[in-house]
Amino acid sequence: MLTFKTTIIEKEIKQRIHWFIELRWIAVCMLFMVITCVRYFAKLELPYVYLYLGNGILLLSNMVFIAYNRHLNAEIDENKWYQKANIFANVQISLDLFILTYLLHFSGGIENPFIFYFIFHIIIAGILLTNLAAFSQATFAVVLLVVCAVGEYSGILNHYHLFGFLNQGLGTNPVYFTAIFVVFLSTMYITVYMVTSIVNKVREKEVALSEANEKIAEQDRLKSRYVATVSHDLQASLAAVQSCLTVVLEGLTGAVSEKSREMILRAERKTTHLINFVKELLDLSRIRAAKELEKNTFNIIELIQEIVGGFEDVVQEKHLKIAVDINDAISLAWANKDAIDKLLVNLVSNAIKYTPWGGTVGISLKNSTDNPGQLLFEIWDTGIGIPAEDKKKIFNEFYRSKNAEQFEKEGTGLGLSIVEEVIKAHRGAIWVDSEVGKGSRFIFTLPIVAALEGIQS
Ligand code: ATP
Ligand code: MG
Repeated sequence: MLTFKTTIIEKEIKQRIHWFIELRWIAVCMLFMVITCVRYFAKLELPYVYLYLGNGILLLSNMVFIAYNRHLNAEIDENKWYQKANIFANVQISLDLFILTYLLHFSGGIENPFIFYFIFHIIIAGILLTNLAAFSQATFAVVLLVVCAVGEYSGILNHYHLFGFLNQGLGTNPVYFTAIFVVFLSTMYITVYMVTSIVNKVREKEVALSEANEKIAEQDRLKSRYVATVSHDLQASLAAVQSCLTVVLEGLTGAVSEKSREMILRAERKTTHLINFVKELLDLSRIRAAKELEKNTFNIIELIQEIVGGFEDVVQEKHLKIAVDINDAISLAWANKDAIDKLLVNLVSNAIKYTPWGGTVGISLKNSTDNPGQLLFEIWDTGIGIPAEDKKKIFNEFYRSKNAEQFEKEGTGLGLSIVEEVIKAHRGAIWVDSEVGKGSRFIFTLPIVAALEGIQS
């Protein structure tokens, strides 16, 4: 089991390995340009075949790294992923250091000013690796350079002077060699020390921030659970009150005078309103209280047809036309059916509620072309529309637009909050197109295509 801290570092490593590979492409291109410029413009006498070979090895190694990175990202076991990613990052840096030393050896050894480029690798090591690994990589860089310089100095390795750039070969000069060695060694260790301490501090802050966020989210869930319990109890009591009122209204407890009937009817209407309000509060808090919604495979087309069927009476009463446009190729969805039902019911009921007599309400469902694997829903109407300044606010709890309040008195302003929570819980997105007096269109995408999840139930 990974700790909270390792999970954050793991996320970070994932992004950074990708970034590191991208950087290497830039390095490959720059290196090619530098070698070519030195060859044709500076006209230094160097073994260019070996230099281009080093460039080619860097390019090939990056292709292998990309392929391995894909394979690594397919690893499901977090522990194994973390171990492999660490080894992968170390191998990349070691190989880069080796290639850099190889290139320096064929272009003047320690005479070559590009010797400073070791620092980039050490900075990357400090960011990407553990402290110990970063210090080990710094030591590896020092060892490589010493082996190269000592090899050239002793004559075991050939020394390629940078004649034309430095006319006195410094690479085999013991004073220059010692000075470079001391400065190089101290620069490597100071750099790695500074980078690792900054990165450690940033990581600690990041962990503390994420822990605080997680605590807030947990408190939010606790609050929602509390509201859900209270709403549930209220709902049961209100239902009991409503049935008592119905019994009295039906005359089962004796004759009811006209005045009393009127009062009881008003009480019954208020109770119905309260029951709807508490029901929406309960739906909202239940979704919020859940860390993850349980998912199942179900037929989304059948669900839409059932929902449309449920509104038949009110559609007839208001003489509305319903246009359903569904791509038959889609049928199975992998989601929380109950939550998707609430989402669709809320949007369809809004479209019906805010469309005047004789208008049209439409529902369409197709595969999203912009986001493969996602379903694209549209629920539209030719109703009263939403004022531009309210488009964002309508998803807030209890918010209702002025024109909606004038058109239809009844409403709690909780429906779209439920919609937004369901979309969030399924990692989808929603947006609205609307014009006052012309109509509204709620468009949303949900990554719930069953085939993608392998139809898991
Ligand atoms: P309820 O909670 O009972 O559904 P409601 O419909 O007012 O009440 P929401 O569904 O949350 O609440 O909608 C919030 C507001 O968004 C509405 O009051 C209305 O102003 C606006 N709205 C939503 N859908 C439409 C629509 N199809 N046409 C015009 N306005 C809409
Ligand atoms: Mg509504």
